[in-house]
Amino acid sequence: MKLVVVGAAGRMGQSLIRIIQETEGVRLHAAIGREGSSFIGKDAGELAGVGFLGIPLTADPLQAFLNADGVLDFTTPATSVEYAGLAAQARIVHVCGTTGCSEADNEKIIAAGRHARVVKSANTSLGVNLLGVLVEQAAKALPASGWDIEIMEMHHKHKVDAPSGAALLLGEFAARGRDIALTNHSVRVRDGHTGAREAGKIGFATLRGGSIVGDHSVLFAGEGEMLTLSHTARDRSIFARGGVAAALWARDKKPGFYSMLDVLGLSN
Ligand code: NAD
Repeated sequence: MKLVVVGAAGRMGQSLIRIIQETEGVRLHAAIGREGSSFIGKDAGELAGVGFLGIPLTADPLQAFLNADGVLDFTTPATSVEYAGLAAQARIVHVCGTTGCSEADNEKIIAAGRHARVVKSANTSLGVNLLGVLVEQAAKALPASGWDIEIMEMHHKHKVDAPSGAALLLGEFAARGRDIALTNHSVRVRDGHTGAREAGKIGFATLRGGSIVGDHSVLFAGEGEMLTLSHTARDRSIFARGGVAAALWARDKKPGFYSMLDVLGLSN
């Protein structure tokens, strides 16, 4: 499967290139960088530390998409909206790992699923998706009247969106378990005299610092006891491996909008 990596000079882009090199059945077809970036023209393999591949970073998606089977896109919301459209035109696979997308962005990416096979996930690791399934079960079993749900996450200091996409994803699982909508039950910021905690809300706490790849904990705080479900990402390669697996999975699927739960066989 011939894969294009967009955002090839980024942290996830480089990890994706390394994982493509070690995965059977896929190969790097083209690597796309940001227009005007000093990395344009540099060899994708050398940038990713896997040696010369003879694939220079380009800013021209049309040339990169020629004969490609899929695109791996862990970039920015605006870029992902653009590449979802390009993948739809080319009728190929679009794996979108970008976080921080607005409702309007998501609508456009979902619409691309009419022609592309889109897999979008704020977290492509097996562990976090399984954690989500467990969180949904716990939220269902532990009543909102006695158990408060708080989601805590920590990431490296360069991360630009908050709460993390994975924290919001876990919030969605918790809300599904409680049969409520996350949008009108989440508390994303607390500051000053907030008053007592309202039962049934799902709280978020965001920490940023150092080089933390991604820590997520979902706390179920009851009277006299607390259950904590958590996941620690030690290496970005877990997301890249999931992204490449998603592309391989989507290859022979019908056009549509899929999630990592579909890829991992965890959807019900
Ligand atoms: P990064 O800033 O290191 O990399 C992003 C890259 O995209 C940069 O090199 C940037 O130049 C490039 N880019 C931006 N616009 C572009 C365009 N129009 N064309 C080509 N390239 C463009 O960031 P990162 O840490 O690699 O994270 C990228 C995204 O992936 C973030 O949204 C992050 O939250 C998300 N992420 C998702 C997962 C997951 O499992 N889904 C895991 C880690 C990170």
